[in-house]
Amino acid sequence: MRVLVSVGEHNFPRDVAESLSDLAEVVYHRPGEEDYWEALGDADALVAGMERIDGELLERAPRLRIVARFGVGYDNIDVEACTRRGIYVTYTPDVLSGAVADLTWGLIIALARRLIEADRFVRERWALRRGRFPFGFDLEGKTLGIIGLGRIGSEVAKRAQGFGVKVIYNDVVRKPELEEAYSAEYVPLKELLKRADIVSIHVPLLPSTERLISERELRMMKATAILINTSRGKVIDQRALVKALKEGWIAGAALDVYEEEPIPLDDPLLKLENVVLTPHIGSATRETRRRMAEICAENIRAVLEGRRPPNLVPEQVGIP
Ligand code: NAD
Repeated sequence: MRVLVSVGEHNFPRDVAESLSDLAEVVYHRPGEEDYWEALGDADALVAGMERIDGELLERAPRLRIVARFGVGYDNIDVEACTRRGIYVTYTPDVLSGAVADLTWGLIIALARRLIEADRFVRERWALRRGRFPFGFDLEGKTLGIIGLGRIGSEVAKRAQGFGVKVIYNDVVRKPELEEAYSAEYVPLKELLKRADIVSIHVPLLPSTERLISERELRMMKATAILINTSRGKVIDQRALVKALKEGWIAGAALDVYEEEPIPLDDPLLKLENVVLTPHIGSATRETRRRMAEICAENIRAVLEGRRPPNLVPEQVGIP
């Protein structure tokens, strides 16, 4: 049997691939490469990154039995099309929540204390005594508004305790246990946007969350507030965000995800001073990526041995 890995050896290390060697040969090819299509035609399992997995692709993968998504967001996968063809879809929930929450706090602090500007100031101007000293704002006593208090959102809330930051949240589901654990207050989205000093987005990309934050929502935020997005780029209307940042409706933004990835070099966001930008590195720590690879391998092993994989996406949990 054959396993096609599209996420590279740095994500799915050779020794994890080796752990499947009693069952299958593991090959590595990047999406879009000619070899990828050829390998897909022979693949029984696919370790998938962010490439679009739809009916058209599945047509070219007649042997495929499992798509093991290397990550927790699976908006790039047409789960229905997979289910129709009897292909399992698995993902890697929980193991990356801490890493994404850490990055979220890193971005919050980077904006609050203007770390990127401060670094540039040291390299270019400090010794020349030119330019304005980068003053930030205190976190203690501020209000963090979490949109989507799920696995990652709740880890962000947990970390807020240490900073003395009050948590308010909005979700389609109330979470009484988390409210209790983190003194988190449930509020409607509109109220969250009006009250929060820091707004952090942790919803999945769904038809209902696409452009959840558009011009109207950005205009509700405080002029002193900052917006953090480590979920999916399309949850924010990026053009409206540029306008908001240029015209001072909000004070700053930090993004790990974009409408288009990689974000084009001529995108207006890249010209702004009050933004911090990272290249979709939410889960990118050595420990977390390794655990994600191991989970993909466990799910593939299960399917290739004729068992149900342990980490099916919710839409497939009910299927036989
Ligand atoms: P999760 O399903 O545990 O949490 C999502 C939460 O959002 C749930 O509580 C859900 O009820 C809520 N929600 C759904 N629709 C909503 C809406 N319209 N308004 C408010 N709340 C809503 O998912 P998770 O594991 O916390 O991951 C969240 C997302 O983070 C993933 O889907 C993925 O897109 C993104 N992510 C990004 C990175 C990265 O590298 N930047 C890494 C991992 C995950």
